[in-house]
Amino acid sequence: MEKYILSLDQGTTSTRAILFDKRGHECFDSFREVKCSYPKSGWVEADPLDLWVSVIEVINEILIKANISFANIDSIGISNQRETTVVWEKESGMPVYPAIVWQSRQSGEICEQYMDKKEYIHEKTGLLINPYFSATKIRFILDHIPNGQQRAESGSLMAGTIDTWIIYKMTKGRVFKTDVSNASRTMLYNINEMKWDDDLLRLFNIPKCLLAQVCPSSSNYGIASFFSDSVPICGVAGDQQSALFGHTCFNPGSIKCTYGTGCFALLNTGDAPIYSKQGLLTTIAWQIGDKVTYALEGSVFIGGAVVQWLRDEMKMIHTSDESEVEANRCESSNGIYVVPAFVGLGTPYWDDEVRGSVFGLTRDSNRHQFVRACLEAIAYQCKDVLEVMKKETSMSLKSLRVDGGATKNNYLLQFQSDILPAIIERPSCRELTALGVCYLSGLYTGFFPSLEEISSIHEVEKVFKPEMTRKEVASLYSGWKLAVKASRVFKKH
Ligand code: ADP
Repeated sequence: MEKYILSLDQGTTSTRAILFDKRGHECFDSFREVKCSYPKSGWVEADPLDLWVSVIEVINEILIKANISFANIDSIGISNQRETTVVWEKESGMPVYPAIVWQSRQSGEICEQYMDKKEYIHEKTGLLINPYFSATKIRFILDHIPNGQQRAESGSLMAGTIDTWIIYKMTKGRVFKTDVSNASRTMLYNINEMKWDDDLLRLFNIPKCLLAQVCPSSSNYGIASFFSDSVPICGVAGDQQSALFGHTCFNPGSIKCTYGTGCFALLNTGDAPIYSKQGLLTTIAWQIGDKVTYALEGSVFIGGAVVQWLRDEMKMIHTSDESEVEANRCESSNGIYVVPAFVGLGTPYWDDEVRGSVFGLTRDSNRHQFVRACLEAIAYQCKDVLEVMKKETSMSLKSLRVDGGATKNNYLLQFQSDILPAIIERPSCRELTALGVCYLSGLYTGFFPSLEEISSIHEVEKVFKPEMTRKEVASLYSGWKLAVKASRVFKKH
């Protein structure tokens, strides 16, 4: 009987299920959109029950599509949008407040109270104080429901990230666990001591009984008894960490970048955390057995979103794919630089106030060149992140593995390869997030015998090699740096 691993990717805008075979090939998939609501400016919430129903639906659909039963499923892997927080009642399993989504700024004011503890929190958690992370979201919920603190202290509430919520529901409320990669995004987990940090719990006034047991990313979380009496959940990781694993970035120095709406670069730094002075986050990549692997993470807010903007607002292209055609219609971007700082700039600038700008326009500037400059801006921003990673780790970063919607664009990847310069590998599988937890789960059950075996089945679809001269790279990149600098001056006008 053919066996598969069932991987779930519960994201901000969709939930996907994918069946992978022993070669790591995607055999079937199912998909459902999930909705967020925006009750106030800057607030983003989701319905935890809707997320759970989407999981039930994609699993049912995929089994029907594949015409198989749970007897064909070896085990389940779960990857999830990170930091998004749910609080629910232990007795009924019902949420007491909407899920607060990672992007939501609603706990911003709470964060301000802790700014003087910035370094203390960074040392313990590897994170910067920001409403993204779960601690202040939990605090916000407890402060906004009737008797929240008292109910939390008496043990009648449970809190967790989306992995914990889905595991809890899948196991009919029997299992209350989270994986280390997700725990490391809560701002309550000590990434050196590998435990919930009592000082931080005290600082945020969050009782420990509210939180789940933390487990290795590849371990037995329990049977998904809502669906079957025999299929265990054995791989769990936050989406970006899962993608890093899916790319088989198992060794220190290996790095991946996901080019979606924004871009996320993660660098495997091995068995010790490295702390950044320039705004990279230190995070746990995964834990297998006793072995913990750490990563450095940098983010670009506007990546593929600049292509959406060209399509939907500027009407310069009809489809995202056209951006590549347009870019190839000209010899160069003719000195144009677009700084797509629509919502500020992320790593390494961390500037909330800067806004988008364009430089270098001339009478003969045209649409093709403008589109090309927008694609180049994605690559420059990722180079900014990778340059910081190089500096802070002294790792050479000779090759980069890529995934995400915008990596369909060959022009973008060739330019990225040129400007880094580095070899870029685009894998055959496009669902790296789901693939990571498939590998983690299969490693635990023996579906995949070893990391070496996984590396040997990993398939690269296309390799991009740097072709530009050093001089050209230096000249183009110095133009970019100047453009960023000028944008940041403009905000202060
Ligand atoms: P997310 O997971 O963040 O929703 P995806 O990985 O699905 O993102 O990628 C979607 C992004 O990729 C969009 O911002 C879109 O503009 C961009 N994109 C899609 N196709 C292309 C393309 N051919 N060239 C450049 N960007 C693209």
